[in-house]
Amino acid sequence: MTAARFLVVLDADSTLIQDEVIELLADEAGRRAEVQAATEAAMRGDVDFATSLRSRVEALAGVGTDAFERVRVRIRPTPGVRELTAAVHQRGGVVGVVSGGFHEILDSIAPDLGVDRWRANRLAVVDGALSGRVDGAIVDAAAKASSLREWAGELDVPPAATIAIGDGANDLEMMSAAGLGVAFNAKPAVRASANLVVGPQDLREIIPLLP
Ligand SMILES: [Mg+2]
Repeated sequence: MTAARFLVVLDADSTLIQDEVIELLADEAGRRAEVQAATEAAMRGDVDFATSLRSRVEALAGVGTDAFERVRVRIRPTPGVRELTAAVHQRGGVVGVVSGGFHEILDSIAPDLGVDRWRANRLAVVDGALSGRVDGAIVDAAAKASSLREWAGELDVPPAATIAIGDGANDLEMMSAAGLGVAFNAKPAVRASANLVVGPQDLREIIPLLP
């Protein structure tokens, strides 16, 4: 891996994209309302993220893997995302995404949006349907921060030349690990702790902040 000038790491749900993927999956299980309420509580920081994610994924048990394609076509990229990733590349930077959501969806949308590397949770599948469990270690707040540090190290990017962008309480740790932590479309607790708050839901707002 060659060195980069700088690194931008985005959260996925409600940052890179306008949706919360787990809510779209919960539609497939007929359990949207409860999963949405639990996701909102987790993003506000009211409950432990990993505990909350495990119980929300339990609600998805029995959903067939054919649901992934239906969910993928419903995903709405955040306005300005392709312009932002192109601007990062033009300036010699790298774009990472670290998500408390799922590889099963992110793997098919991240490359198209100009994301260079990404990390997320994996959903366990048994006999063609979700088992209701997360496969492997959960990508929580600490894992998001350590991904940012790990990628910066691999790319020979100093911590000061990293930017983290997110909306949820589980993004705060990576935002404080970064040179610049940007609250985007964010919950009040996240706005209060960020270096910078971007209000409009347009990722082009980030371009003037790039080094
Ligand atoms: Mg989010």
